[in-house]
Amino acid sequence: MTRVIVAGAGPVGLTAALALSRHGLDVTVLEAGPDLAAESRASTFHPPTLEMLAELGVVDEVLARGLTAPTFAYRDRAAGHIATLNLAVLAQDTAYPYRVQLEQSKLTPILREHLARRGVQIRFDSRVTGASSDETGVGVHVADGSAVRGDWLVAADGAHSAVRRALQTPFEGITYPERFLVASTSEELTGWLDGLAAVNYVFDPVDWSVLLRTPDHWRVLLPTPDDSPDEAELARLDGRLRQIHDPGRPWQVAHASIYRVHQRVAASFRVGRVLLAGDAAHVNNPLGGLGMNSGIHDAIAYADALAAGDPDTATAQAADRRRRVALEFTQAVSHRNYERLSATDPAARAAHLDQLRATAADPARTRAYLLRACMIESLRPVTP
Ligand SMILES: Cc1cc2nc3c(=O)[nH]c(=O)nc-3n(C[C@H](O)[C@H](O)[C@H](O)COP(=O)(O)OP(=O)(O)OC[C@H]3O[C@@H](n4cnc5c(N)ncnc54)[C@H](O)[C@@H]3O)c2cc1C
Repeated sequence: MTRVIVAGAGPVGLTAALALSRHGLDVTVLEAGPDLAAESRASTFHPPTLEMLAELGVVDEVLARGLTAPTFAYRDRAAGHIATLNLAVLAQDTAYPYRVQLEQSKLTPILREHLARRGVQIRFDSRVTGASSDETGVGVHVADGSAVRGDWLVAADGAHSAVRRALQTPFEGITYPERFLVASTSEELTGWLDGLAAVNYVFDPVDWSVLLRTPDHWRVLLPTPDDSPDEAELARLDGRLRQIHDPGRPWQVAHASIYRVHQRVAASFRVGRVLLAGDAAHVNNPLGGLGMNSGIHDAIAYADALAAGDPDTATAQAADRRRRVALEFTQAVSHRNYERLSATDPAARAAHLDQLRATAADPARTRAYLLRACMIESLRPVTP
């Protein structure tokens, strides 16, 4: 039986493991940490990802724990609500014409449970330090000194991928000039701002933001200068939140963190018998919620290719295709979202807001727009 090693038990590694196991392949998952990561991070599932999770038999649990978001909205910091797009227009395109808001840390335990039922255990405290690949298989080195041999390795070991580094695969791209701050608040924003959806993109040349509902919290994403200490940025957070809405007292903030954001794509997604997936292969800004979703799409594409009659050809094609999607779709869309949210030219911003209003008013235009924003277009066959 083909043996596949998966490095990393994040959402991408565990999706790959479950899909591989369901295809009847033997899977070993190596995870550096002592348990699944508890950080909240990604919190949006797009329609095609929900379809994939349905194929894996886990979507009912995701829907039960998550928040269904049938619309998302655009706002302008000064002008307020601009447009709401309703995903119902995608009913002919997907069985899931909505986004689901659920933190990735709630998906991974569901995947672990399904893997356990299939007899696949995660080997925790097993940091992969390197990998080598030859014509007959892969050798994976673990920090405890052990080595694991398999036919293929799916490297889903995150943005700092030890596997990608060991293979000396370049990871080129840009780092944004500002950092991003994400604050989780127990405040109920719905009563404070008109026309809020569960996902709201707020345009402003300086203080653009994203307001996201998760089952437990509202999350506010704000740009933050690169050259200012974290403590100073956290100290002025309440003042910034009170510019969104001032309740006459400090906002209740449960958690806030500041992180650097990159747009990078690995030079190749397949090196010998190693397949790079998820953040190990590509990272992008979180505007549009594309990162985890596209990583899950990698995982499914690789699992299908590894289960194919000729995995060598199928994985080469899948890796090429996924890299093209990362460059031409994920990077392009996420960076365009950033440029539009933060646009400083008043005329360009006004023209874009008008376009959004016109899009929302016309179901055909809404559908065309959402096919791309909701990632359905990224999975459709491409012309060579
Ligand atoms: C604040 C924030 C908000 C985000 N919001 C969104 C969003 O709304 N929507 C979206 O789609 N994406 C979002 N993203 C991106 C998203 O979190 C990532 O794209 C996603 O986590 C990628 O999943 P992954 O499984 O590839 O990597 P990770 O989630 O990073 O998982 C990698 C796993 O590998 C393990 N690991 C690391 N090194 C090794 C090693 N050497 N050996 C073995 N195991 C190892 C780690 O412990 C971890 O468990 C956000 C990211 C951040 C930081």
